[in-house]
Amino acid sequence: MAKILMVLYPDPADGYPPQYARESIPELSKYPDGQSLPTPDNIDFTPGELLGCVSGGLGIVDWLKSEGHDVVVTSDKEGEDSEFDRELPDADVVISQPFWPAYLTKERLEKAKNLKLALTAGIGSDHVDLDEAAKRGITVAEETYSNSISVAEHTVLMVLALVRDYLHQHDISRNGRWDIAEAVSRSYDLEGMDVGVLAAGRIGRAVIERLAPFDVKLHYFDQHRLPEDYEKKYNLTFHESAEALVPHVDVLCIHTPLTPSTEGMFDEKLLNTMRHGAYIVNPARGAIMDRDAVVRALESGQLAGYAGDVWYPQPAPEDHPWRTMPHNGMTPHTSGSSLSAQARYAAGTREILEDFLANRQIRDEYLIVDGGDYAGTGASSYRQSK
Ligand code: NAD
Repeated sequence: MAKILMVLYPDPADGYPPQYARESIPELSKYPDGQSLPTPDNIDFTPGELLGCVSGGLGIVDWLKSEGHDVVVTSDKEGEDSEFDRELPDADVVISQPFWPAYLTKERLEKAKNLKLALTAGIGSDHVDLDEAAKRGITVAEETYSNSISVAEHTVLMVLALVRDYLHQHDISRNGRWDIAEAVSRSYDLEGMDVGVLAAGRIGRAVIERLAPFDVKLHYFDQHRLPEDYEKKYNLTFHESAEALVPHVDVLCIHTPLTPSTEGMFDEKLLNTMRHGAYIVNPARGAIMDRDAVVRALESGQLAGYAGDVWYPQPAPEDHPWRTMPHNGMTPHTSGSSLSAQARYAAGTREILEDFLANRQIRDEYLIVDGGDYAGTGASSYRQSK
């Protein structure tokens, strides 16, 4: 029997379950590249339910308990006296979501003597010290593709919101005003703009494919260049590095994982090489940016807008400057946790656990670290080519 420690975001303040807006979500048959959707033996929830919070329990708590496992679900994750820290030393499996990350630092991994599997419900396992996990023989896995399209949709939403200045216009309408001249004084069409995509993985490609019909000029950089026929189909201009890409775009969408080489990458120097009045949409990870350099670039007008849903640390403190900086379109970390995405990553979490508990091989595409090294998606996406 295993001890499974789940760290999930708190329930809605007005109670669980919430009043749902819709009765069902569409059924998908596969992911865009043909990868199959999660294939657990069973699920005990109705797709479309709120699963990512404590009472939702990713829809797996009753199943795990019925199999005799010890399950702890908590949202209390910060500080030495947190429930997470108290329960960690004898946990076999830790499950956490990037939206409410249980940071598995070197110090915490040292305390987690029994830990065999660090499972990310969603995508993005940078809250785990991956090198340390590899050293300790801990497997790190996530549900690759489960919310990539969710994030791509959110990215398109934010690009349009920034360029057209939607949030400001919405505020005017909410506040009983009709000040057209003020409302349109920062509003542009996206059509014809140069749009850059930094990292053309599952999210980056989905953004390219969704933005192409807006008749923009598309540019990208990824450490693995895309096939020639794909570049031709979307009329993509490839640049040799992030530094080479950013001076050529009006809008930049960032979709790299957070790794030692992307951490802090967007400092004042790099931001100043962008076109004056460029926009950045970053739903990848907050720590890819120098926090205060972004604020200064917005204040000076070097950036015309910044949006994203990732911060550091998370949850962001109430006085985090990105909450109030000018022309921001920030959301809390929600893009990958739509009810639609939750159904997929909860089913994927169950699939991975079923395999792990039965001593079966976890699907290669779900693996980030395994057998003491990067593996599966971790080997192609997290390992840096330079
Ligand atoms: P993916 O593995 O399909 O793609 C990652 C891509 O990044 C790969 O093509 C890889 O080659 C490229 N890459 C890695 N390091 C690079 C570098 N230094 N320079 C250029 N390219 C680099 O992953 P994905 O599904 O597209 O997700 C990407 C990232 O988005 C995740 O790692 C995660 O941090 C973030 N994400 C955020 C949310 C959210 O809710 N906001 C949800 C899912 C994923």
